[in-house]
Amino acid sequence: MPRRRRMRKVVAPPLFKGYKPFGSRGKQTDAIELNYEEYEALKLADYDLMNHAEASELMGVSRATFARIYETARRKIAKAFVECKSIKTVYGNATLDGSWFECKSCDARFTIPEQQTDNVCPMCSNPKIESLETK
Ligand SMILES: [Zn+2]
Repeated sequence: MPRRRRMRKVVAPPLFKGYKPFGSRGKQTDAIELNYEEYEALKLADYDLMNHAEASELMGVSRATFARIYETARRKIAKAFVECKSIKTVYGNATLDGSWFECKSCDARFTIPEQQTDNVCPMCSNPKIESLETK
């Protein structure tokens, strides 16, 4: 039986689908995939300036696991920078804190308050939205 991978809690997904380098010479190579939990680990440690103990608790993982996710995230971003690769964000092993949606028309990512019944994109009012959890 395959070992069930533990889900990592992510407060909010990245608000972008990816990054592309500009001004680089040569052909576009394949993108580096950055998981939501890797994005979250980097954000908590290097943007929110949390220590690893706080950050690992917030994500529901051990400190060792957090350190591993964080290290992977840094290496991926360093590789993307040095090798002029695009970064694409992918779901990974994350469980989102709240229901997040993505607009199929303008690519906006947002949450919908529970009391709201008409589910449309808050940016462009398009009704074609998709839950990020199902991806
Ligand atoms: Zn939209």
